[in-house]
Amino acid sequence: MQEVYSHIFYPSTLNELLTIKNQNPEAVIWAGGTGLMGKQEMKRPTLPASIIQISRISELTKIRRTERFLEIGAGAVINRILNVGQHVLPHALAQAMKLIRPSVIRNNATLGGHLCIQDVRLNLYSVLLLMDASLELKRSGGTRWIQLNRFFNKNGDFQLKENEILTRIRIPFGNWNRQIFSSDGNPYFDAGNAISFCVLADIRKGMINDFRMAIGNTGKHTVRSIELESLLIGKKVPLNIKDVSSVTRMHKEWLEGLTGELTPFQRYRTARFIFWILEELLP
Ligand SMILES: Cc1cc2nc3c(=O)[nH]c(=O)nc-3n(C[C@H](O)[C@H](O)[C@H](O)COP(=O)(O)OP(=O)(O)OC[C@H]3O[C@@H](n4cnc5c(N)ncnc54)[C@H](O)[C@@H]3O)c2cc1C
Repeated sequence: MQEVYSHIFYPSTLNELLTIKNQNPEAVIWAGGTGLMGKQEMKRPTLPASIIQISRISELTKIRRTERFLEIGAGAVINRILNVGQHVLPHALAQAMKLIRPSVIRNNATLGGHLCIQDVRLNLYSVLLLMDASLELKRSGGTRWIQLNRFFNKNGDFQLKENEILTRIRIPFGNWNRQIFSSDGNPYFDAGNAISFCVLADIRKGMINDFRMAIGNTGKHTVRSIELESLLIGKKVPLNIKDVSSVTRMHKEWLEGLTGELTPFQRYRTARFIFWILEELLP
């Protein structure tokens, strides 16, 4: 059998990385390698012809917090983020990270690699979307910041340019005092039988001041109903019977309108989700 070799670049600074990527736009960024290799047959893995290994670049692993936001380098591995950020990570985000399983994967998987997998949106995507996270994208000679919801277009296509690298993820601190993330199935291996639910709410003195919910791990799309969220904002809790019936009706109509986005399994789980919110989260 003919041996096939890959060319591996091993930059140690961000500038070096950007220069290499500029000169070799086809070279594949290798962060933890779990997304690149996880579905490969281990006996005969195929490596990209040209690889840029980024794990030596310390600028990409920094984690810092300010009063307003948490900023995480794209090359920071999930278990380190959980460890370093244990007192500051929003609960739903930490929960979504812990549910990336098995836990050994989290020792290699990076936040940047997680968000740059193109064919499916994994655990952290929907949580960060609700949190209004923004991304720093760098190329040789230029930097731009974009909101996470612009990272993929409406069709779910990746918007990172060929010579760009995701370098930092900025997560604003919100006032959410109720946060949940729950998931079922493995979105990486079996997207059709996986689903996640994320809810962020700010409920004080019996009033819903903010409410956001997303259904994630549903392939290339994250499903969200702004109308349903708006209906709940400003309502008093516990919800009265009239409000409960408006919410369940709107949820049903919304679900009926989602034709291509959900598999039968996901649809079944989503139908029950609203009752869980009404019973558990907005008692
Ligand atoms: C056994 C196993 C179980 C898993 N279970 C779960 C689970 O339960 N839930 C879940 O959500 N996910 C799960 N995953 C998926 C896992 O979360 C991803 O594989 C991981 O987050 C990818 O991170 P990485 O650093 O390894 O990325 P890599 O594999 O290194 O890269 C992934 C992609 O992103 C690109 N890339 C990486 N970093 C950058 C960057 N900074 N800029 C631009 N492009 C970049 C790469 O070129 C590649 O295309 C599982 C994976 C495996 C293998």
